[in-house]
Amino acid sequence: MTFSPDPAGFSPAEQLRYARHLSLPEIGLAGQAKLRRASVLVIGAGGLGSPALLYLAAAGVGRLGIVDPDRIELSNLQRQVLYTTAACGVAKVEEARARLLALNPHLQIDVYPEAFAPVSAARLIADYDWIIEGSDQFAAKYLVNDACVLAGKPYVGASIRAFSGMLAVYAAPEGPCYRCLFPEPPDPATIPSCAQAGVLGTVPGLFGTLQAHEALKLILGIGEPLIGALLTVDLLTMRFQKLKLPRDPNCPVCGESPTIRSLAETPLVCAATVDLGPGDDSLPWLSVAASRRRLELRWIDVRTLAEFVAGHVPGAIHAPLDQIEEFAARIGPDDHLLLYCQSGGRAVRAYHQLKAKSQGQLWLLRGGYEAWLNDRVDE
Ligand SMILES: [Zn+2]
Repeated sequence: MTFSPDPAGFSPAEQLRYARHLSLPEIGLAGQAKLRRASVLVIGAGGLGSPALLYLAAAGVGRLGIVDPDRIELSNLQRQVLYTTAACGVAKVEEARARLLALNPHLQIDVYPEAFAPVSAARLIADYDWIIEGSDQFAAKYLVNDACVLAGKPYVGASIRAFSGMLAVYAAPEGPCYRCLFPEPPDPATIPSCAQAGVLGTVPGLFGTLQAHEALKLILGIGEPLIGALLTVDLLTMRFQKLKLPRDPNCPVCGESPTIRSLAETPLVCAATVDLGPGDDSLPWLSVAASRRRLELRWIDVRTLAEFVAGHVPGAIHAPLDQIEEFAARIGPDDHLLLYCQSGGRAVRAYHQLKAKSQGQLWLLRGGYEAWLNDRVDE
């Protein structure tokens, strides 16, 4: 026997689940069916991706893709609300999929436990209707932008700092792209990574939620999407501003005579921003365990005073990066120094400066203070 399901084919349980959408004239059954047919790729399952994914899953977006190479760490939990203490060490994409399916079992969730890279960027983006860019790496931000412009696919991008952020829909056919705003990645030496910079957990919470919100508007075709406009928010003063964001005719990727015409041309630009040093194996890195065995080492903390006061390796000497040249004058040829910062990047810069100005024997702590803390937590 056959019977005719309702036009949108939602089960009674789904009708209950989405009742608050179904009663909105702007959504209703037709809108809910659009959400179910839609697919969204979320690049980065961290502070922005966590709330974005939770709201997209709760809203009933039928297919979600999640790209993230990382495992959950204790230091993520202050803002990455998808994860629990018990899940530390688990791959983010796997835990995210389990949590989201527990929230809404009617979804298809595809996971990609890999960095968003030029080799797979075009394929991943082609497979989804909409993209949310929630990375904390500039290289990834530029790669997502260029891949979306080249694919003609709009994406919702957000950038956050300690207490502020900005949001826009980039790469829409009629709108600007991220490079119209920032043509080139900043000098990596001038930008602390998120791990070093610090951020109040509610800041990515708000912006990730706004990203999901813009994606839902785009899918539903309602309201005014942030195309050609940039939302900036200062969350200390609660100043919300919506600025006009025109397309730049000289933009290197979406302008009138683009210099980036394929993703093969993007990595060259981005290569300079990738990792400052923790991955550079030509430097004398020591693991935490090896460092603790080397009793002749004096541990040198090159972070800021605020970071040092908040916690440091017992017995470490504070020599902040901006005063490292003065410190170099105090180093003798018999000194054996182990440099560390929060995760490794600034220690590399201190290493190169000290190497040029002093005779001391220098090493670097792999993973920085966070690795030392992790080692203590595991004991
Ligand atoms: Zn552009």
